[in-house]
Amino acid sequence: MSVATGDGAGSGIMAGVTDPLPALPDDVTTVLAVAAHPDDLEYGVASDVARWTNRGTRVSYLLLTRGEAGIDTLDPEQAGTLREGEQRDAAAQVGVSDVVFACLPDGVLEAGVALRHTIARAVRQVRPDVVVAPASQSWGGVPDQADHRALAAVLLDGVRDAGNRWVHRDLGNGGLEPFNGVRWIGLVGDAEPTHAVDISDCLDRGMAALRAHAAYFDAVGGTPEQMLRERAAEAGARQGVASAALVRIIRLRPEQD
Ligand SMILES: [Zn+2]
Repeated sequence: MSVATGDGAGSGIMAGVTDPLPALPDDVTTVLAVAAHPDDLEYGVASDVARWTNRGTRVSYLLLTRGEAGIDTLDPEQAGTLREGEQRDAAAQVGVSDVVFACLPDGVLEAGVALRHTIARAVRQVRPDVVVAPASQSWGGVPDQADHRALAAVLLDGVRDAGNRWVHRDLGNGGLEPFNGVRWIGLVGDAEPTHAVDISDCLDRGMAALRAHAAYFDAVGGTPEQMLRERAAEAGARQGVASAALVRIIRLRPEQD
């Protein structure tokens, strides 16, 4: 995430809408969380993850890059190592130890077949029933970062590719069998949410994960913790709880929840 602070709290999310949203489906056993950079999952996904791991749900992270281009004053070689370490610490704060870095080049992700391949590979490895990612969104009216938009453009296709034996055939040849079990993709923080999740008991752990990126936030001017807490409280008010996260679900199978 390149926006460390800002006035994006609730931008477009709550405008004129106050009805509570249905709760996120609870029958989740394995989750794959995908993000472009270290820290992206800490803008809302991590608190959801803490809730899942509390309940025994297995959660794995796929980071497309090491975020090596994210600190202007630090050489990418050093920044990548630093940020990878901070992301592993952040994951540990919410009970996640399976953190895979695809090590694609930070800043120049392309929404294409190669990115779909990376996502499909992770889905075949983890075999999740749910995939979550930070929604691509504008922050205070500022368009989203290129890598975030690239991920948003291909996430659905990459997940579907995982189930097709004849797409990315090298994966099958390498022993990764097709997997069609993903039921839905959750885009956390989307401007058009369909569901909400009560994170009142998990927000502090999510914020601890955010603070694990200490060196990064020191370099870019401070953490967005206050803004994220306000956004969670705003969503919570809509749901009648202290704190909530809003999620847009994209279903990959027809079902009733
Ligand atoms: Zn990012």
